[in-house]
This record gives sequence, structure tokens and C-alpha cells, in this order.
Amino acid sequence: MRDDTRRWIEADKAHCWHPFTRQGEWGAPDHEPIVITRGQGSWLWDSEGRRYLDGNSSIWTNLHGHAHPVSDAAIRTQLEKMAHVSFLGFTHPGAVELAARLCAFFPENSLERVFFSDDGSTAIECALKMAVQYRLQSGAPERRQFIVFSNGYHGDTLGAASLGGVDRFCPRFKGHGYEVTPVSSMAALRALPKTTVEKSAAVVIEPLIQGVNEMRPWPAGMLAELRAWCDRSGVHLILDEVMTGFGRTGRMFACQHENVVPDFLCLAKGLTGGTLPMAATLTTETIYAAFLGTPDRAFYYGHSYTANPLGCAAALASLDIFQQEETLAQLAPKIDHLRAGLAALKAAHPLIHEVRQCGFISGIELRQLDGRPFPAEQRLGEAICLAARTHGLLTRPILDTLVLMPPLSTTCAELDQALAALDNTLAANPGIDTRPANA
Ligand SMILES: *Cc1c(COP(=O)(O)O)cnc(C)c1O
Repeated sequence: MRDDTRRWIEADKAHCWHPFTRQGEWGAPDHEPIVITRGQGSWLWDSEGRRYLDGNSSIWTNLHGHAHPVSDAAIRTQLEKMAHVSFLGFTHPGAVELAARLCAFFPENSLERVFFSDDGSTAIECALKMAVQYRLQSGAPERRQFIVFSNGYHGDTLGAASLGGVDRFCPRFKGHGYEVTPVSSMAALRALPKTTVEKSAAVVIEPLIQGVNEMRPWPAGMLAELRAWCDRSGVHLILDEVMTGFGRTGRMFACQHENVVPDFLCLAKGLTGGTLPMAATLTTETIYAAFLGTPDRAFYYGHSYTANPLGCAAALASLDIFQQEETLAQLAPKIDHLRAGLAALKAAHPLIHEVRQCGFISGIELRQLDGRPFPAEQRLGEAICLAARTHGLLTRPILDTLVLMPPLSTTCAELDQALAALDNTLAANPGIDTRPANA
């Protein structure tokens, strides 16, 4: 190990606290964290000079590859003018242009207003607070709760987390945050008592596919049905496209697959192409209008880095790249290539119970040969992803579901490399007992 690698690891273990991490294991003497020092295209390099394919797009953010010359140049150009200025009391060209370009993706007179923030969680917080305050200021103060879909994930700040039903993360904080009614399907939604519906400000959903819930797609047509239900019920629709936005599903936004326009659209991860933290909450002019008038009607919410100019420049560059590289047109055959590759992988490995795919997002679920999940203590998904590193692939599992969602710019040849890495890892069966449980 190089000296600087050793020094970084020691200092990390002494001072850093990582997200969603069992720090005891992280800090253990035999744990050697990878120190990532460079990225180019779909690839990342560590401080020891080893190269890996970025199999989960750096936690679902990267779209066009690392160190893309167009976004890097845009960020540098903006940097020469100014890195940051308050959006409270001022405006700046990047934010104005970005807001207009985001609205232009949607039919006229639908989503016309953009509120910027910093992360997926804050994009959701904004939508929730807007939805509740809208009701307070439009004669329906009793509509103050939310309907959510079971096992959804909408972020970690207190309000966003109160929507989340992924039980292994959230139970400690139950009872804090918003009052929510979870449903697991359209049928369950339709069966809700009228009293619940009439107390609800909005329904929140990850459209087309739930991410953190082990990459589970919704039935086709469900989103359009949900929109119709919302319209009939006077409940707003909040779409959490933090993961699905910006091409991941094969269209620019997941809602476009079913011609749905929500009342609130939450965007983050891919907004800047995966370069800088930034988020946006889009909404309609009708909702916006309820915040006009007397001073007490204003939306008193914001963060210090709201509409950061570097982030805006990166986001505009990402939208430019979509056009210049025809990212979505290029993606279509790669989605098919991924589908075929995943099918071949499944055919070769009996431990693959199911492959779930939505566009360029995929989850590969491992189970025992008799179909039962592996014991959670075995942490097989983690073991497989750890072993995949030695085959040049970086990704993170969700329980025993391996996630494969590389940058949209990933080529078919690189996809094949990623799939081969998984193939080799599974073939090596690190620590897996492949015999049926009763053998
Ligand atoms: C990642 C994610 C969030 C939270 O975004 P952060 O930027 O991590 O706060 C919310 N919703 C969905 C669907 C996500 O995938």
C-alpha cells in the first residue's frame, strides 16, 4: 500500500463518519477502504492506481461520465465569474436559464415554477411544505397529511424520512414528522376511507420504480391511474424523480412514459449530471398563486446555497450534453443490450432469483436455490459487491439485490465488462453455499 493511501485511510478512520455505515466495521483494523482519487467516463481510479467501472453511477448521480469536458468547462467558466451568490434577494443568469429550461420539458401551463435546493431530501421537504401551506392558504387546512406508498424512500431529513417506509432505516424516528397513510397498491389507495382522503394534501410516489426498495418497478399504467385518482379526489400528486429523473428510465423523466404531469416534481441526483449537489422542486402556477398576496402567505423556506451558480452551470451543461450527444437516442439500444445481458447472467446463475429493470436501472436479486432469501446475517449482497471490486466493478447492493445502473454514457462494451465482472464474481461463489438448504 502506498504511503499516502495509508495516511488517508488512517485519517479517515480517525475523523470521518460515513453515511449509512456501520462505523465499527469500517474502522476495524482489517478493513481497507478504497480511496477514490480520479474519474474519467464510466471509470474510477483508486489511490493504488486500480481502475473500476462505476456500476452505480456514484450512488445514482452520474449521467454523462466523470470529468466530462463540457460540464467541466462550464463549471470552470462559471468559477471565473463567481462561485456563489445568495439567491435570497438576488437572481443570477444560470438560475434563470435553468428554471426556464426545466419548465420547457413539460406542457405549457403545467409545471411553470422552480424552487431550487440542494439534495433529494430538500427537494422533497420543499414539496411537502408547499403542499401543506397551499392547503392552509386555499381554504382546506384540514388537508395536512400525506398518502405514501409502502417501502418508498424519499430522503433522510425529518420530513422526508417520515414518508419513508423502508423499515430497516426509519422505525427509530416514527412519530416525528408528517402524519402519513401508507398504501401498497392502487387497489389499497382506492379502498382508503373518504375521511383519510379528505385529510390528505398529496400522494407521494417514486414513479415507475422504487429505488431503495430493492429496485421494484410498478405495474405499467399505474402512474396514469394514480394521476386520475388524484384528480378525482382533490389530492395533489408529488413525484419523487430524484432517482428516475434525467434519462435513467429511458425518457427524460419517468412521468413522461405515461404522459403524467404531477403537481410537484422533485429532482436532484442527476440534475447536475452528477457533478455538484443541487435540487429542484417544480410546481404549477395554481399552487404558486396561493403564495401571493399578504406577506404571511410567502413561502418562508430556503438554504444558504440555494441555486448555487456552479450547480446551475453544471445542470445547464448536462442538458446541453443530452442534446449534443443525443444521450436518450443513444441509450435505447443500450437498454436492450443490458436486458439481454442480464437475462444471460440470470440463466447462468441459479442464485439469481429475479432481475428487475427499468430503463438503465437494474437490480439483480440473489436468493437461495429453494427461493427463500438468504439469512440477513450472511450479508451476501455485500460480500458479492466486495468481491466484484477485484473484478473491476464498484457497486452497492440493497440487501441481496445487486444494483447495476452505470452512467448513461456507458458503452455496450463497458456494460459487457460490468456484466462479466458480476458473472466472474458469482462463478467464484465467494462464501456462498449453493447447496439447497436441506442438502
Ligand atoms: C436518493 C433519493 C432521495 C434523497 O436524495 P438525497 O440527495 O440523498 O437527499 C430521495 N428520493 C429518492 C427516490 C432517492 O433515490
